[in-house]
Amino acid sequence: MRFVFLGPPGVGKGTQAQMLAERDSLMKISTGDILREAVSRETPLGLQAKAFIESGQLVADEVVIGVIRERLSGPDSRFGYVLDGFPRTLGQAEALSKMLEGQRTPLHRVISFEVPEQELIRRLTGRRSCPRCQRIYHLNFHPPRQQDRCDVCGEVLIQREDDREETVRRRLRIYEAETAPLLKFYEAQKILSKIDGSGSIEEVFKRLLQVLKDRF
Ligand code: AMP
Repeated sequence: MRFVFLGPPGVGKGTQAQMLAERDSLMKISTGDILREAVSRETPLGLQAKAFIESGQLVADEVVIGVIRERLSGPDSRFGYVLDGFPRTLGQAEALSKMLEGQRTPLHRVISFEVPEQELIRRLTGRRSCPRCQRIYHLNFHPPRQQDRCDVCGEVLIQREDDREETVRRRLRIYEAETAPLLKFYEAQKILSKIDGSGSIEEVFKRLLQVLKDRF
């Protein structure tokens, strides 16, 4: 099966994509993860993307389309995948449609996750991570035992540059302007399903499985 997961930053689509990919042995392809890894390895792609990611802006369409084209032409994608965080603009969505038409492998479903904006801001700005062992915490939902220190290695926790409140608000504005129009694009193709992304991870996953069960 071939899926696209859509939704604003902080909605939890990456977590849901990971869970579905593990359950159904699909490949999870996240452009955010690919770009962040490139930044930390200081590859040419990473150097190109770094400033955009840190300031919450979108990386240029040609760059991310190139990344996806490479992944989808590999043999692993034959068994199905979940695209997480791509496409994010109409240009990317059109390029993806063309790519898949050429391979005669159309998308089966696009899932849009939805959560009220105030909740997204709370989720994103409360996130903290350990720069040494990479563990993730949340000030409200999964706080460290000692304020601002990693439970496991004791390192001082940091906030991701793009999780700062001002940057989060910018990312949400960009989502509304650039990505929300994709809902109409996929609705017109009759492959869109909307899911309430509030509540626990397990609750949302149950809703997702129900939608897929009703369809396939
Ligand atoms: P994410 O982890 O999906 O929120 O992505 C983190 C950042 O990577 C975004 O704020 C963008 O700067 C960049 N990015 C990820 N996916 C895309 C995409 N499809 N198009 C443009 N930029 C992207």
